[in-house]
Amino acid sequence: MHTEERTFIAVKPDGVQRGLIGEIVKRFEQKGYKVIGLKMLQVTDEQAKAHYAEHEGKPFYPRLIKYIQSGPIVAMVIQGYNAVAGARHIMGSTNPDTAEVGTIRADFAQVMEYNIVHGSDSVASAEREIKIYFNDNELFTEGKCMSELVIESLDAEV
Ligand code: UDP
Ligand code: MG
Repeated sequence: MHTEERTFIAVKPDGVQRGLIGEIVKRFEQKGYKVIGLKMLQVTDEQAKAHYAEHEGKPFYPRLIKYIQSGPIVAMVIQGYNAVAGARHIMGSTNPDTAEVGTIRADFAQVMEYNIVHGSDSVASAEREIKIYFNDNELFTEGKCMSELVIESLDAEV
């Protein structure tokens, strides 16, 4: 039985500053994933440390914490079949210089440090990261599809 997954995506501060919010959201939407949560926020110290706990102690960690707090991010939760790996595929590998052309990182970034987008690396990471940035009541999975709304609208006309 196949199920949908949720993943945590963030347009990092450089992506926001460069005016790429729409472009990045578009890439996930055009794949067919559903955006079920989305907001702009300033990452707090607590959120930054929780988000990147796995990297604590690595040489790039201090700059990473500074970078993710250097301006607002756009945080989102997207949902769909195989969304965790699928979103990572759309983002491209961590280093934009070697990421596959056509991916977000290859198309819009040059260096690893400023790679404009984050995506969870596993279902477990996604669950953990979503909780850092979203309350349950900020995720919206209900909602009729457009074809249902069209029929309802036509039926309502007298
Ligand atoms: N990063 C960096 N230098 C490195 C590795 C990572 O500056 O050598 C930054 C980069 O912004 C990356 C983030 O740290 O996106 C998290 O690293 P990770 O290995 O988790 O890569 P990702 O999951 O984002 O592809
Ligand atoms: Mg990672």
